[in-house]
Amino acid sequence: MQPRHIYVHVPFCARRCAYCDFSIAVRKTVPVDEYVDALAHELSIRFPGVRPWVADTLYFGGGTPSRLGGEGIGRAVSAVRGFVELSTGAEVTLEANPEDINADAVARWRDAGINRLSIGAQSFDDDVLKWMHRTHDASAIGRAVDAARRGGIENISLDLIFALPDTVSRSWERDVSCALALEPSHVSLYGLTVEAHTPLGRWRSRGEVDEAPDERYEREFLFAHDTMTAAGLDHYEVSNFGRAGRHSRHNSSYWIGAPYAGLGPSAHDFDGATRRWNKSAYVDWLRALGADRDPIEQSELLTEENKIAERAYLGLRTVEGLVISDAEIERTKPWIDAGWARLDDKNRLRLSPLGWLRLDALAADLTLLRSRY
Ligand code: SF4
Repeated sequence: MQPRHIYVHVPFCARRCAYCDFSIAVRKTVPVDEYVDALAHELSIRFPGVRPWVADTLYFGGGTPSRLGGEGIGRAVSAVRGFVELSTGAEVTLEANPEDINADAVARWRDAGINRLSIGAQSFDDDVLKWMHRTHDASAIGRAVDAARRGGIENISLDLIFALPDTVSRSWERDVSCALALEPSHVSLYGLTVEAHTPLGRWRSRGEVDEAPDERYEREFLFAHDTMTAAGLDHYEVSNFGRAGRHSRHNSSYWIGAPYAGLGPSAHDFDGATRRWNKSAYVDWLRALGADRDPIEQSELLTEENKIAERAYLGLRTVEGLVISDAEIERTKPWIDAGWARLDDKNRLRLSPLGWLRLDALAADLTLLRSRY
């Protein structure tokens, strides 16, 4: 059985954002031909002689995939389609930065089958966007959404970052309200974390910034929950909000533990038992393919313990929750008493927004309990 979900990592960015520690390749000029040829070659090396199989979702993530432009994305989709047949109604997502979204690009993306855009908005405050080293200003976000809609791509997700350092003057309430005013079908939230090998990490080591205090992280998360659910978006996963029928089908496949294929530098891949990942640096991925080798970095067979931990973590992060045993009901009663979770009459445990703020600790607790059986 081939995976029904395909992820393609496109590593190019115009510059590195202050907080970003993703695997990216900063390029002024994107080597579109080189990348697309290498992607096609990876497919031919990893799936030789395989008859085209049907997939339900295709997701171009990054990096900034929209930097491949209208034609580049068209060619990348064609390369994938040489091996994968997209099912009727397949969800085909492109992560895009606002400055890359214009009428011409949207028309070509739509022709290529892109039907969902995930736009890196992050904030609607020009000073904050500058501080983040973003390459767009606030007005570009509205223009991008408008161009996407005019071009026929209605399914639009916006990314927003919350919990910025105290030293950054930012109104989270205003940003949430600006995002909702654009009537997105989906919003993804990211709580800022300071990673060591980023500009932000260096600013912290010099004592210039620090992570937001826990109370503000909590306050902004709960504000987003209240405001977005009141606006008709379901808070269906710890970091994701979507209108009915517009929840991310691709990301949801990860959360239910479905197999997926990952292509491109640093992409991960899961066949239901083994996880593998590609070489992280663009040049290393390219070099392996240039030598006709699978660009794999490593793989690991999930142990029983890994599976228990993943099931607990993935189950608790979505509104689906997970079914727990009688012994676990006893153990999780204090969570329910504290307002962190609810239990239905079929023993399905679901975390509340307050519980999601403690997701790691609660999943670790449940994993520990299950590992003792
Ligand atoms: S655009 Fe996205 S991937 Fe690129 S540097 Fe910024 S946050 Fe990282």
